Amino acid sequence: MLKQQRDLLSGLIRIHVLLHAAREPIFGLAMMEELAHHGYRIGPGTLYPLLHGLERGGLLKSAITKEGGRKRRAYRITTAGIKALDKARVKVDELHRELQEESPRQIRPLGGLGERGRRS
Ligand SMILES: [Zn+2]
Repeated sequence: MLKQQRDLLSGLIRIHVLLHAAREPIFGLAMMEELAHHGYRIGPGTLYPLLHGLERGGLLKSAITKEGGRKRRAYRITTAGIKALDKARVKVDELHRELQEESPRQIRPLGGLGERGRRS
């Protein structure tokens, strides 16, 4: 994925991660597969820094788990993460609505700057 494209979509990828972490503990490899299922091809070099960033920001919390002698790091959502996800849900709904519209809401036209714009 190109950097510009990845930058544009990185917030959406984070929301996906939080959404899944809200359902169950997530692991790096399984999360990469899940994201690939959604069409995001990102490697460990992108995903792990992203997970660490979410943990540093207090939205995820990780712990080492042992399964059959294998150690894996599991990420769980925090209370702050749940709040952030709820806010993101509202924003995504709004964006989705506007994307579905034939033409997005018109922003203030150039001629409509008001008194200050008209003086020059
Ligand atoms: Zn998903």
